[in-house]
Amino acid sequence: METIPSVTIEDLIDRYDALLLDAYGVLVNKEGALPGAVELIAKLNGLGKPYYLVSNTAAHLSEQAAARYRSFGLDLAPERILTAGLLIKPYFAAQGYQGLRCAVLGPEDSFRYVEGAGARPVSPFEDFDLVLIGDQVGFPFLEGVDAVLSRLIEKLDGGAVVPLVLPNPDLIFPKAAGFGITSGTVALIIETALRQRYPERAEVAFVRLGKPQAGLFEAAIRHAGTRNAVMIGDQVDTDIRGAAGVGLDSALVAGGVAGVQLAGEIKPTYRLESLAPRSGWSGKPRA
Ligand SMILES: [Mg+2]
Repeated sequence: METIPSVTIEDLIDRYDALLLDAYGVLVNKEGALPGAVELIAKLNGLGKPYYLVSNTAAHLSEQAAARYRSFGLDLAPERILTAGLLIKPYFAAQGYQGLRCAVLGPEDSFRYVEGAGARPVSPFEDFDLVLIGDQVGFPFLEGVDAVLSRLIEKLDGGAVVPLVLPNPDLIFPKAAGFGITSGTVALIIETALRQRYPERAEVAFVRLGKPQAGLFEAAIRHAGTRNAVMIGDQVDTDIRGAAGVGLDSALVAGGVAGVQLAGEIKPTYRLESLAPRSGWSGKPRA
């Protein structure tokens, strides 16, 4: 039974003071901009409408992400790109992790985030005080996971407490053809392995920072200067659940990770069929 109202992008621009946009599955995929994204960003820029990208990535600094999106034709300022990587700094500060050796599974930008947070990023093959998964790429996958797992077991067997940090809890992301796993799935691999050995130690788990946790949404609200904002996303478990958690409305876009199933108790405020308006941004019917 369909109970979720359909909405157009023009309706959302009219009804809300700010738009919060997910990146992968809404504006882009790995290979380029998704249909309607370039025109939407140009429109929002032209209107001067407050909008922010709210992205779970910890694999790209905002500047690098902006450059990449620009190559896709999306005219996005780095200041508008709020990433889960940006949550590492306040989290490390709150936990007192500055100066510690942090093993990073991820690419160069993940190391930069950790460095910016005041810790000392090291490769998965060096000794560490804590572990952060920045991405599923940028390191030799099996060797890196095995090295971190082995050293973790050594430390945990010795009674050490080793913080595990996961900025991006996403499990999968859409590719041009099909899907790929992301850092949340890497964390599940390590957690599942550790649970075999430490079934009683519930604290041996990754702390998740990104969506659906409140941090990124609260940062976006602060930047936008309003709570009258709508989150436009493609994943129920991160975008929609997270928006609901901080009291924001949300719109689920068609064609992303969520697909057509909406079985859970978390429902978006709206369904958004397309980023493009019904009859073109100029008001003229589309050719
Ligand atoms: Mg997405």
